[in-house]
Amino acid sequence: MKRNLLLTPGPSKVPVELCAVLGQPIIHHRTPQFQQVLKEVTAGLQKVINTTSDVYLLASSGTGAMEAAVANLASPGEKVITVEYGKFGERWAALAKAYKLNAVTVKIPWGRTITPDEVKTVLLEHPDAKAIFLTQCETSTSATPDMAAIGEVVRKTSAALVVDAVSALGTEPMMMDAWGVDVVCSGSHKGFMLPPGVGIVAVSPKAIALMEASSNIRFYFDLRKSRKAFADTDTPFTPAISIVIALNEAVKMLLAEGLEKKQEYYLLMAKAVWAATEALGLKVFAQPEFRSRGLTAIMIPEALNPKKLVKTMRDVHGITMAGGQGDLDGKTIRIAHMGAVDEYDIMTGLSCLEKVLYQAGHKFELGAGLAAAQKVFNK
Ligand SMILES: *Cc1c(COP(=O)(O)O)cnc(C)c1O
Repeated sequence: MKRNLLLTPGPSKVPVELCAVLGQPIIHHRTPQFQQVLKEVTAGLQKVINTTSDVYLLASSGTGAMEAAVANLASPGEKVITVEYGKFGERWAALAKAYKLNAVTVKIPWGRTITPDEVKTVLLEHPDAKAIFLTQCETSTSATPDMAAIGEVVRKTSAALVVDAVSALGTEPMMMDAWGVDVVCSGSHKGFMLPPGVGIVAVSPKAIALMEASSNIRFYFDLRKSRKAFADTDTPFTPAISIVIALNEAVKMLLAEGLEKKQEYYLLMAKAVWAATEALGLKVFAQPEFRSRGLTAIMIPEALNPKKLVKTMRDVHGITMAGGQGDLDGKTIRIAHMGAVDEYDIMTGLSCLEKVLYQAGHKFELGAGLAAAQKVFNK
């Protein structure tokens, strides 16, 4: 059978245990059986997010969770702040525009993220903002902000802090209640190592007050419906039953291994990739103090044709990495080290990257990247 290793930041590799769960015959969702699953998965996700707030499940990809946040928190014409330091930050502004919100957009150079001081400044300038929308792991650049310090700033204002944690949850820490985060948006197909299909939205009491007050249009993503159903351990519409059942198992696996331990492991894999990148004479795109645990965007000289390298790795060798997005299109290769990816997947991926770089004429000593990664893994 042909190898098909996903080292992409969504969907990410699905472990065999979860493939087996996904292959089970479907059950009906209005049953005590499924209600038990909903109860467990909610409690599990609350542990992962570190919150006592409501956690709603939508039948959607990650963007559905983001759309729900935008549609529910403000009315047309009301002011919100969106922050951009990559492709996914731009999505917040696009969503705000689609819902006719008055969006003030803060543009930060790609490669870093917004600092707590910059958050403070923009909130002082716009005290009437209902919410500030930002990205925890900016998957296009692999940069991540200091969420704890940003939460500290936002919680002193009337604005709600909305975080796109689609690629961050499970991989980066999320202390929703302790940090004062009001909405956490995520999905099943990144840190939770499953196919896409479940959008996750956690909402604080501050966010619930905004969503009850909003007059914006919404139907499928009306979180007031989710809230009502949640109180009865139910969902307003047919959930993505099979994926919710697998999500329950995925969360149990994560918690059994220990979240902190897993997060340290993702950081170790990240460090191995950073070391390999340097040893290959290449550069990590994100600035050192902003680098995420979940993936690494590597700058590739355009002469080496990074798009072609990605295609060769995928089509010839069965190893899928991601190319660049937005302004980084044709300039980077992104390797994910999230979800079920482990040390040996990373070594396999790096070995393939070395092969295609070498064949493209990049000058380095074969094995240099692998040796640097081995040293990190075997310290
Ligand atoms: C994957 C991702 C999303 C959502 O994308 P979908 O294709 O809708 O799942 C949003 N934000 C970030 C940061 C992501 O990595």
